[in-house]
Amino acid sequence: MRIVLLGAPGAGKGTQCKRIVTKYGLLHLSSGDILRQERTAGSELGKKAQSYMDSGALVPDQIIVEMMSSAICKAPKSSFVLDGFPRTVNQAAELDKSLMSDGQKIDFVLNLKIEDKLVAQRMTGRRSCPQCGSVYHIENLKPKVEGICDNDGIKLVHRPDDSLDVVENRLKTYHKQTEPVVDYYKNNNVVYDLDANKDADDVSSLIFEKLDALVKA
Ligand code: ADP
Ligand code: ADP
Repeated sequence: MRIVLLGAPGAGKGTQCKRIVTKYGLLHLSSGDILRQERTAGSELGKKAQSYMDSGALVPDQIIVEMMSSAICKAPKSSFVLDGFPRTVNQAAELDKSLMSDGQKIDFVLNLKIEDKLVAQRMTGRRSCPQCGSVYHIENLKPKVEGICDNDGIKLVHRPDDSLDVVENRLKTYHKQTEPVVDYYKNNNVVYDLDANKDADDVSSLIFEKLDALVKA
């Protein structure tokens, strides 16, 4: 099963991907997590991406497409859920081309729709594990022990690009460059629009309903 999760920053892509992975055993490929790992490792790729990420702009397509193609190649049985990629129509077209050359395609696109006015609260309250990428919220989805990751006991961080001014830029970038990807997939694939303003558990139930039907088909 090859799935893409689309949605604005804060829509809940990372949160829902972790749940999908636990239930269906797919590989979670998050372009943001991979970029942050590259930055922590101090690689050339990480250095190139830094200024774009800090300002809330997109890292150039060529860098991202190469990075994600190599991650996808390593996916066992080509089963994966993509989180944060593709983020431009060009990235989506490149992804299709590369999958098609192996006789594969994206089976399912989940589009998490969130109102702009909810985004700031979600992002400024987000706390992330720098090690495993798990995400929490200081009010909405708290860890068991404040400030500590349930999964590995590591101290949670507030990502610098989750500050209010950068979030505003990221939202503008989303509307301009990533929203058109939804239409791209509507022309080519199966897209399910989901109301991501709801509670995380309600959103998961909607997703599982759709994916269960797909698995049985
Ligand atoms: P969020 O969790 O809010 O959706 P991500 O962690 O996916 O954010 O992305 C953080 C930053 O990494 C983005 O603001 C952008 O600079 C960069 N980035 C991630 N994925 C991509 C992509 N597919 N194309 C270009 N830039 C990307
Ligand atoms: P994205 O990957 O789309 O940027 P995340 O999954 O990281 O979004 O979620 C952003 C923030 O909002 C996190 O702090 C997360 O705990 C919280 N969150 C995710 N889904 C919901 C939801 N349905 N309702 C309330 N808060 C949520």
